[in-house]
Amino acid sequence: MAVSKNFKGKLLHITEPLNSLKKFPEIRRKSTETIQVNLGYRCNQACSHCHVDAGPNRKEQMTLTTLNLVFKYIDKWKIPILDLTGGAPELNDYFRHAVTEAVARGMQVIDRCNLTILSEIGQEELAPFLAKNGVHVVASLPCHSKTNVDRQRGAGIFELSIEGMRKLNAQGYGIAGSGLELDLVYNPQGASLPPNSETLAKEYKQILAGHDVFFNRLLTITNMPINRFRHQLEREGLLNEYMNMLRSGFTEENTTKVMCRALLSVSWDGHVFDCDFNQMLDLPVGGGDEAIHLSELINIPLSNNPIAVDTHCFGCTAGSGSSCSGALTN
Ligand code: SF4
Ligand code: SF4
Repeated sequence: MAVSKNFKGKLLHITEPLNSLKKFPEIRRKSTETIQVNLGYRCNQACSHCHVDAGPNRKEQMTLTTLNLVFKYIDKWKIPILDLTGGAPELNDYFRHAVTEAVARGMQVIDRCNLTILSEIGQEELAPFLAKNGVHVVASLPCHSKTNVDRQRGAGIFELSIEGMRKLNAQGYGIAGSGLELDLVYNPQGASLPPNSETLAKEYKQILAGHDVFFNRLLTITNMPINRFRHQLEREGLLNEYMNMLRSGFTEENTTKVMCRALLSVSWDGHVFDCDFNQMLDLPVGGGDEAIHLSELINIPLSNNPIAVDTHCFGCTAGSGSSCSGALTN
């Protein structure tokens, strides 16, 4: 078994030999380009595949103190991209503060938006605010079919999502020449890998144009076998089959491109992880048993530190690969 050290110098037993594929191979961090901040688990939806287990009754929200710490870290390490996620990140009281602080620093800002939030009471000015600040909107729309979206996300969600896209399109999002990017996120309805993203994007564009809505890119994302989706697989007796499919689809090239190499994930309470999935599994950055707070890392470089991997990581490397930015290879 390979032995490595995390950034605190602790010995970690991370990998089996690669050819066994029982365990995920060791991978290490590069310099951090994206800080992905989970502003809280509250969401106006409660989707069946949600790996965050987000919903309307969740209370966890990032405080201003923790957000200020995030910006202290950003300033120290000169991180160029702020990726805001949740829950519905827009429901955090300091969402707009986070955006304007990042824009003032010249950062690229990504809002992981569920589209329906744009039609919630109190969010009437959200679309103009996002446009004014040039925020890159990455919006989940797991299918172009009303039936499938409503089955996965809840009754009426497809129509509300289209309404959200209309509000964004009205600001210029997804319209050529506006400079405002609206990307959609597709994830499979069940226990399968996403299809080729370019073919699917053409299909999405054609069908959604029939609803008079437009977008830039389609990002295809594999459902990770954790939390709500894992429980669904267990209920349906498909967990082993799904894990075998992810393992047998392992593509070594994708290990060089997985998002955790250049991304740092911060939870609503300021703890730090190699990615959002590890955050949900409570696997601290670099491995080890103890939770690590961002305040402990302000002066510690993370480049070349081992990434905390486990069997769920096969979800990122199977087939064309998967990340918050879509497929890793085509
Ligand atoms: S919209 Fe996103 S964060 Fe909210 S429940 Fe659905 S998948 Fe989870
Ligand atoms: S699950 Fe997270 S740690 Fe594992 S490969 Fe994917 S991004 Fe990296």
